[in-house]
Amino acid sequence: MVRRANLFSGEDGKKKRVYSSKYALSSICTCSKCGDIYRRISWNNRGKHSIVWRCCTRVENGPAACDAPTVQETELQQTTVKAINLLLRSSSSMLDILMQNIETALADDNAGELKKINAVLSEKQKELVKLAYAKKDYTTLADEIDLLRDKKQDLLVVKAETEGFKKRIKELEGFLKEANQELTEYDESMVRKYIDKIQVYEDKFTVCFKAGVDLDIER
Ligand SMILES: [Zn+2]
Repeated sequence: MVRRANLFSGEDGKKKRVYSSKYALSSICTCSKCGDIYRRISWNNRGKHSIVWRCCTRVENGPAACDAPTVQETELQQTTVKAINLLLRSSSSMLDILMQNIETALADDNAGELKKINAVLSEKQKELVKLAYAKKDYTTLADEIDLLRDKKQDLLVVKAETEGFKKRIKELEGFLKEANQELTEYDESMVRKYIDKIQVYEDKFTVCFKAGVDLDIER
């Protein structure tokens, strides 16, 4: 969740890049060196045609700006196959532990805090009505209520994200339980469904699943 929040906040000051998701790999491959995303490019290298993925910063500003490696599309696709198969091959007990860990981490949700805020909010709203009825100044109280409402909104957002994350975990769990054989070829829809991000390094890829499992695949 933290990873995703950082991804969308653009707190590194970079303008957010938005690309069409024509390819499942679009905008999920990121450069480990500069944080930018990888872009799909048709490449003609000494007459040899190939499809490669390259760091946008490197494409736009040259190797002095970022010396991230260029990756063949086939290698990237095979990496997702390897990662999914690695998950499938992990002994079921290992997977159970992993899933349990994630669920335990999530169990500590903000339901208690929300309940408290709701109680305080309703008390303060009653007070405000009394003050207004008595024609007394209630601006301070109104400000307090506004702040509480903002806080409640933040908590609701976190709650929704947590629930979304739980759903991702259940989906992956279901897939792993039902799948009876390993993938033999690249599956675009599976990448869209289960993979959140692929970080590109010189010597490895880190494949981050939406369910919160990260796997390193050597290059
Ligand atoms: Zn880069």
